[in-house]
Amino acid sequence: MEKYLSQLNDAQLEPTIQVDGPMIIIAGAGSGKTRVLTYRIAYLMSKGIDSFNILALTFTNKAAKEMKSRIADIVGESEAKNLWMGTFHSVFAKILRFEGHHLGYPSNFTIYDTQDCQKLIGSIIKEMGLDKDIYKTKQVFSRISSYKNSLVTVKAYFKNPELMEADAMARRPKMGEIYAAYVERCFKAGAMDFDDLLLRTNELLTRFPNVLAQYQDKFRYILVDEYQDTNHSQYLIVRALADRFQNICVVGDDAQSIYAFRGANINNILNFQKDYDGVKMFRLEQNYRSTKNIVGAANSVIEHNKTKLDKIVWTANDEGEKVIVHRALTDGDEGRYVASTIWETKMNEQLHNSDFAVLYRTNAQSRAIEDALRKRDIPYRIYGGLSFYQRKEIKDVTAYLRLILNSADEEALKRVINYPARGIGQTTVDRLVVAANATGKTMYDVMKDIDSVNININNGTKNKLRDFVTLIESYKVMNQTANAFDLAEHVSKTSGLVRELGKDATPEGVTKMDNVQELLNGIKDFVEGQMELADAGDSLAEFLEDVALATDLDGDKGDPDHVALMTIHLAKGLEFGHVFIVGMEEDLFPSGMSMNTRSELEEERRLFYVALTRAEKQAYLTYTLSRYRWGKLIDAEPSRFIEEIDDQFVNITTPLRERQNPMLDPSIFGDIEPNRVRFAKPKTAKLQKKESMKKPEKFIISTPKKLKRVANAKPSENSNLTDSKLAVGNTVNHQRFGRGQVTKLEGSGADAKAEIKFQNGDTKNLLLRFAKLEIL
Ligand code: ATP
Ligand code: MG
Repeated sequence: MEKYLSQLNDAQLEPTIQVDGPMIIIAGAGSGKTRVLTYRIAYLMSKGIDSFNILALTFTNKAAKEMKSRIADIVGESEAKNLWMGTFHSVFAKILRFEGHHLGYPSNFTIYDTQDCQKLIGSIIKEMGLDKDIYKTKQVFSRISSYKNSLVTVKAYFKNPELMEADAMARRPKMGEIYAAYVERCFKAGAMDFDDLLLRTNELLTRFPNVLAQYQDKFRYILVDEYQDTNHSQYLIVRALADRFQNICVVGDDAQSIYAFRGANINNILNFQKDYDGVKMFRLEQNYRSTKNIVGAANSVIEHNKTKLDKIVWTANDEGEKVIVHRALTDGDEGRYVASTIWETKMNEQLHNSDFAVLYRTNAQSRAIEDALRKRDIPYRIYGGLSFYQRKEIKDVTAYLRLILNSADEEALKRVINYPARGIGQTTVDRLVVAANATGKTMYDVMKDIDSVNININNGTKNKLRDFVTLIESYKVMNQTANAFDLAEHVSKTSGLVRELGKDATPEGVTKMDNVQELLNGIKDFVEGQMELADAGDSLAEFLEDVALATDLDGDKGDPDHVALMTIHLAKGLEFGHVFIVGMEEDLFPSGMSMNTRSELEEERRLFYVALTRAEKQAYLTYTLSRYRWGKLIDAEPSRFIEEIDDQFVNITTPLRERQNPMLDPSIFGDIEPNRVRFAKPKTAKLQKKESMKKPEKFIISTPKKLKRVANAKPSENSNLTDSKLAVGNTVNHQRFGRGQVTKLEGSGADAKAEIKFQNGDTKNLLLRFAKLEIL
């Protein structure tokens, strides 16, 4: 038997060596699903199955790369190279490059990222003269995205009275028209958005049976990781491709289905057995990732979900430490706890930064954590924020490159037509768009042929447009012979981009310049990597495709030894020694937007299950008593999920329901190193629950959206004092922020707050019952 197979247990081995037929592995977190998929590919190849005939779909490009390199270790680099492996989007973008012409797309179509799409939608809304406060670009975009993922084309939309009515009810009766215009403009620009990559693939496979047959024949063995999170569009593609040979292996965990909000359909996993004949079902039960305490905690949480498949997850690993629950006063305090714990643990246990991850429900939470890590000089990296390739200066450079490749790309053209400034104003651009819409030509072609178009643009501006076209045309000529790096370098210099950035000597400006340099380095690496491959194709096109499809986890840059900061959604499939799950508060996690129905709440709970099961050795849960949200300091209450963990697996250092002395200003207290009693004997959660029942003092404050519970809020004595005396215009002294002037007063009682402009320049909104103010 092959040596690598001995690294699998019996339950894992069975599906690994099951070569033919449809099969599904449903198993809990950390049980080796991804490992089985990886080894199975190596095994198929060792049984003589051609690597060209294998397709593996993963959740991130990074996961695909890791899988490929593991397979290369086993079967050798040259064979592994031929595997088709990647995310749905990257694999099908590749297919559409070859086959898109059937649908009228050029092979060099552009991939519009979210920014491009939203800009285009914004301009359509403007051109149609609609109210941008009702037709919010983001909402319109997400609506269009959901049509596309349910395969509702424009035609289908106008045949569907329910959809039209829903949009009309949402005060957006023109949604259909926007959708139609958007699709048309993308098409004309030779551009696809992310959803198109799936929608058009479906269209291709449905309308062109010959193309379908060709890819069915190619992909004789199909493997899908994280199958629980496939959406309808992805599901149909997989089904169509697997239909002929039915050699399909999917792995997933219903308890980790967390993308319903983006259209993922958990039924895809539940119905798999109905979709194919003779499905073999495998279960894996042993978790290799985490300690007994973590596995136990995660199991006890997911038990609270009603909709789930029965599964067993156990581990032979050590018992480990209990899950630590820490109460912080504010988010600043929470950040300091995380940073100091990382710092101490790293020292005590001789660990790397990369052994730690901080996971949160929403991106906004990262700021306080970042501040604290920076203060301690702990290197970190935020995953999933604005990616490198979405930064303005980088998008400016890549927009030139996109335009060289596909001059129909309207969003790229609009971006650079007057950047750096060359005297072509917005009015001119608007007129070009109108002319393009009226003549059916692309905007670039209108410019190219400016003399034969009836357009109200003066001669001076026409000359500027001609100069711009000449510049782009010269780049196009260069692109025929030069490699992507030489071209990109030439473009950065001759377009005036680098000169423009050079004018800005501020630290931000210098960073931007460094980023452009970094982009050029990246292109160089890419080109050099490609030259090693015998079949190097169009390097610029391939580089841009990589850029467009870079997922949030890709492109690790800088110091590899960093603490990882990311949302829980992004952490799926990953593992870290020590994991902090911060912001364990009601209304934040579970999210306030997801508590209206049982199914929403259950999805939040699955998200928590995913978060906990990322940890190998130690999990920390932190919550705060008050947190700044939407610019206001808001009382917070511990998440119900903390209480759902079975007592025996947690170490709750401070009773969940006991609040701090409200007379203390948390912002003052927060500066002191948090008083952590990590090893104090915990009270059992049940006891705490009893205690909390004894304290029924809860205010119900009605907010426009919902009723919000606020635990035991008491106005401080101090606030009574200030409440009555404080007036706008008063000069006050704050223990920490110093002197300031009251600029606004709002609310009353426990809710009374003051906006104060401090002499240090900060303006703060302080809850009076916390803020110790002295009126001067
Ligand atoms: P998730 O549900 O989080 O995606 P998973 O089921 O895909 O998890 P893997 O990531 O494949 O699980 O495995 C979890 C960890 O356990 C990995 O570090 C993996 O290398 C290790 N592992 C899996 N199986 C074995 C085994 N038989 N022996 C030793 N280690 C294993
Ligand atoms: Mg996995």
